[in-house]
Amino acid sequence: MPELPEVETVARQLAPFLEGREARALRIFDSRLRSGPLPRLRGRRVVSVGRSGKQVLIGFSSSSNGARPVWLAVHLRMTGRLIWSDAGGRVERDHLRGRIEFDRGWLLFYDTRRFGTWSWYASREAAAPAGIDPLSPGLSAARFEKLIGASRQSVKAWLMRQDRLVGLGNIYASEILHAARVSPLRDTGSIATAEARRLHGATRRILRRAIERCGTTFSDFQDARGVTGSYQRFLRVYGRAGERCPRCGARIERIVQQQRSTFFCPGCQH
Ligand SMILES: [Zn+2]
Repeated sequence: MPELPEVETVARQLAPFLEGREARALRIFDSRLRSGPLPRLRGRRVVSVGRSGKQVLIGFSSSSNGARPVWLAVHLRMTGRLIWSDAGGRVERDHLRGRIEFDRGWLLFYDTRRFGTWSWYASREAAAPAGIDPLSPGLSAARFEKLIGASRQSVKAWLMRQDRLVGLGNIYASEILHAARVSPLRDTGSIATAEARRLHGATRRILRRAIERCGTTFSDFQDARGVTGSYQRFLRVYGRAGERCPRCGARIERIVQQQRSTFFCPGCQH
């Protein structure tokens, strides 16, 4: 499941290909990708490509007949991939669920497990998820502390709550807790101010670093399918049960929380 940095990477890599292009036609090949009426894209230009939570958000201008701008939010879920192609009709058809034809090139959506979604909105705000973006300038350390203090659950589960912070999954939650030296088993109610500050700093630092690494490791967005496999070597605890903690040398442990693996160091996370 792609987390925030991978989605940001896909958006950044697609942007130069899509921005300014004029749409010709929208084709949906899988009825599950059709939620509500589809907009008419013909004649609209792509005005922006970015990320909103864990979605790739593509903004289209108003159309020549006066129809309002529209926004496409793509949720990749498990196996969704957005691919830019200028290969015309000679593309792989297996698992192709949607396609937008432009004046030059095609945006293709492949998705073997079909959990990905396309949603259409009238504004960027309407497409925004319920939680706060952890990289948003509005998320101060004080606000972070207030948010975390308002819940009663394990801090690992809290970090993954999409209605609080958007975009963190199993991998980055483990990495953030290790960087902040906080045990995943702690209750959010017991997190002190200094710990909340460390969690806040670690969240933003680790996500920014991951975005940089995704971007440098994958110069071609078509490799987006392999992102999680290849940046594994940058992870300090995730997937490393039994190995030595790079900070204190204790053995990293794997536990299960809410049916998901958590990796942490009992030596330096308290
Ligand atoms: Zn350690």
